[in-house]
Amino acid sequence: MKLIMLGAPGAGKGTQAKRVAEEYKIPHISTGDIFRANIKGGTELGMKAKTYMDAGQLVPDELVCDLVADRIQQDDCANGFVLDGFPRTIPQAEALDVALTKIGQKMDFAIDIDVPDENIITRMGGRRACLSCGATYHVVYNAPKVENVCDACGNALVIREDDKPETVKKRLDVYHEQTQPLIDYYTKAGILVSVDGTKNMDEVFADIKAVLGK
Ligand code: ADP
Ligand code: ADP
Ligand code: ZN
Repeated sequence: MKLIMLGAPGAGKGTQAKRVAEEYKIPHISTGDIFRANIKGGTELGMKAKTYMDAGQLVPDELVCDLVADRIQQDDCANGFVLDGFPRTIPQAEALDVALTKIGQKMDFAIDIDVPDENIITRMGGRRACLSCGATYHVVYNAPKVENVCDACGNALVIREDDKPETVKKRLDVYHEQTQPLIDYYTKAGILVSVDGTKNMDEVFADIKAVLGK
């Protein structure tokens, strides 16, 4: 099973991708998590990516395409994978197609988690992230057991630098301009499925499972 999670920042891609990965026993590949891990580790890639991320802009395609092409060829991806946050531009989608064609494969589904901009602003305001293990919480919709402490690993939760309201607005503009065209791209490819992302997390997951089947 090879799938892509599409959707605006805060639509619930990460939340659902983690559940899908667990249910279908496939790796969850989040380019945002990869960049944040690199920033934390002080790598050259992390330093390059940080400036763009903090400004709410996309990291240039050339910094992300090869990275994903390499990742999906690793052994743990043999039975499939779920991409979260990639592709985000048409050139990235084309690069993914090229990489897959080379290994005789193709994507099965692109799942668009549809959430209007108004809801996004509230969601992002309440998001709390664990930069150690990548878990994500929401102060109202998915609160950790102990305030500001990660249930999974016990480390402190933070508000992501790019989740401040001004940056969220910028990211939504970038989404509409550069990422939304992918809905058309994958509709034409015949693999787009849209789910209503305003439902609660369990309902959205049930809708996704209904699409993917067993
Ligand atoms: P969200 O979960 O809110 O959609 P991500 O964690 O996926 O955000 O991404 C955070 C930031 O990392 C993006 O705003 C962007 O700067 C950068 N980024 C992540 N994935 C990509 C990508 N595929 N192409 C370009 N930039 C990316
Ligand atoms: P994305 O990866 O698309 O940026 P996340 O999965 O990180 O989105 O979700 C953004 C925020 O909204 C998080 O705080 C998350 O806990 C919360 N969230 C995710 N799905 C839902 C939902 N269906 N209803 C309410 N809140 C949600
Ligand atoms: Zn954690």
